[in-house]
Amino acid sequence: MSVPALEVNELDTFARVVIGNEHVPSDYAPVVNPARNQEIVGHYALGTADHVERAVQTAHEAASAWGALGADGRAVLMSAAVPKLRSDVDGRARLLTREQGKVLWESLTDVGGPPAILEYFLGLAPEFGAPVATEDERGRIVTMRRPMGVTAVIVPWNYPVYLAFQHIVPALLAGNPVIVKPSEYAPLALTATVEILAQALPPGVLNVVPGSGAEVGTALTRHRLVRKVLFTGSTATGRRILHAGADTVKSVTLELGGNDPAIVLEDAKFTDDRISEMVRAVYTCAGQVCFNVKRIYVHESRIKEFTDSFAAAVDDIVVGNGLDERSTIGPLNNGPQFERVQGLLNEATADGGTVRTLGRKLSEESWLEGYFLLPSIVTGLPDAHNLVTCEQFGPVVPIVPFRTEEEALKLANDSEFGLAASVWSDDVDHAMSVAAQIEAGSVFINVHRMGASDMTMPFGGIKQSGLGRTHGMIALEECSDVQVIAHRANTDRFPGPARSAAKS
Ligand code: NAD
Repeated sequence: MSVPALEVNELDTFARVVIGNEHVPSDYAPVVNPARNQEIVGHYALGTADHVERAVQTAHEAASAWGALGADGRAVLMSAAVPKLRSDVDGRARLLTREQGKVLWESLTDVGGPPAILEYFLGLAPEFGAPVATEDERGRIVTMRRPMGVTAVIVPWNYPVYLAFQHIVPALLAGNPVIVKPSEYAPLALTATVEILAQALPPGVLNVVPGSGAEVGTALTRHRLVRKVLFTGSTATGRRILHAGADTVKSVTLELGGNDPAIVLEDAKFTDDRISEMVRAVYTCAGQVCFNVKRIYVHESRIKEFTDSFAAAVDDIVVGNGLDERSTIGPLNNGPQFERVQGLLNEATADGGTVRTLGRKLSEESWLEGYFLLPSIVTGLPDAHNLVTCEQFGPVVPIVPFRTEEEALKLANDSEFGLAASVWSDDVDHAMSVAAQIEAGSVFINVHRMGASDMTMPFGGIKQSGLGRTHGMIALEECSDVQVIAHRANTDRFPGPARSAAKS
C-alpha cells in the first residue's frame, strides 16, 4: 500500500509546554502512529507538577486584566485568530490522522472545528453576562456574571481538537484564563491549534501543559487556584477528578463515557440510506466516538431483516491507514484500547455469542503494523452481557431483540450511562414520544452521529455520563459565577433580633 508522502515540518510535531506564550523546556515522550507502529509522528512534553504550578501562577496573574476586558473586548481579540485557524487545516488534519488514526475527512472535521466554534460563541458575546439591574422601593439589585478564575481543560484522544475548543472558547470568552492538558495519545495537532489561538491573546491567558493524567491532570485538578475543570474523557477518570477537586470545592463540568442505545421500532423501513446512517452511527472513527451507537435493539419481528441489511452494509467498510482515501475507517488509537476490544470479542465468543467479522483490509501487508480491527456485529448475547452493558469504544456492536416498546425502553434505560440515544422509525411523532422516555442527554431520531448535535444544542450526559452541558449559552454560563449586588433601602422587616427595649 502506498501511503502519501508526508510534509509535516519536524519542528511542528512537538507538543511543548506553553506558558505565557513561551515554550518551556521539558523532557519528551514519543507519539506513535497507530496505523504504523514503527513510525514516530512527533513528541509530547512530559509536563510536571512544577510546570503546572508555573502555568497556574501565570494564568492567575493574567486573570484580572482578561476579566476586565469584558466579553466584547475579549471577543475582539479572539476573533483575530479565526483566519489563522482556517489556514493550513489540511496540514494539521494530516498530522492528526497520523497521531490519532482516523480517516482524513474526520480529522478535517476535527481540526476545522475551532474557527466555527469561535464564530458561534463570539456571536453570543453581546448577550452574555450583561448585568440585570432592578431598582424600586426595596433598593437596587444588580445580578451579573463574573469569571471563575483559572480553568483547566482536560482532553481525550478521539476528537481532541474539536472537543478541546468546545470548552476552551466559552471558558475564555466568559473571562477565564485557561490551561489545556492534551491526551498523551493525540497531543500534537491540538497543541499546534491551541498555540495559534494563544498567540492572538495576551500572554498567560491560554497555556498548554502536555503530559500524563497522573502527573499533570492530578496537579491541575488538585490545585487551589484552579477554580474550574472542564473535562472530557472516561467515566473512571471523571470520578477521580471529582475526588481531586473536592478539597477545594471546584466547579467541574464532566463530559464522560456512554453506552448509547439505538431502538429500531417495528415500523422502521430499512432503506439503503437509513441502514447507511446506522452504519455511520456505529463505526465512525472505528467506533471511538463518545456518542456512537454502542448497542442496537431491534423489534424481534424485524431482527433478521435488519441484521442482514446492516451486515451487508458493514461489509463495505474498508479498514486501513487513515491517510489513504480508500480507507473508510482507520485503526484503533492505542494498544490498550485495541486489546480491550479484542478481549470483549473473545469474551462474547466464549459466552456463546455469534461474532460476524465483516469489511475488508485495505492492505494485508501492513495489517499487523497497526491497531487495525475489522468491523463486526455480535448477536445471541444475553441482555446483561458485558459487551452489551459496557462502553466498548471500538468497531463492534451487539444487536439485541425486543418484544415490546416497554421492554426496549427498560433495556435502554437499564444502564449507568445516559449520554445519547436514538429511535429509528417512520412515525416521527411516535418516535419523539419514545425518545422522551429515554434517560439520555440527547436523543436523536433516525440519525446518531456528530453533526446531529450542533453548537446551538446543549450537549452532555445524565447519570454517569456527565455533569453539566456544553454548546449554547449554557456553556458560557457553566464557565461563570452568578454574583448579586444589593443595596437595600429599608431593612425594617428583615429577620434578626429586635433592638433591646431596655436600651432605648
Ligand atoms: P481518559 O479518561 O483515559 O483520559 C482523558 C484525559 O484525562 C487525558 O488527557 C488523560 O491524560 C487525562 N487523565 C487521566 N487520568 C487523569 C487524572 N487522574 N486526573 C486528571 N486527568 C487525567 O479518556 P480517553 O481514553 O482519552 O477518552 C475516551 C473516553 O472519553 C471514552 O470514555 C469516551 O466516551 C469519553 N469521551 C466523552 C465525550 C463526551 O462528550 N461525553 C467525548 C469524547 C470522549
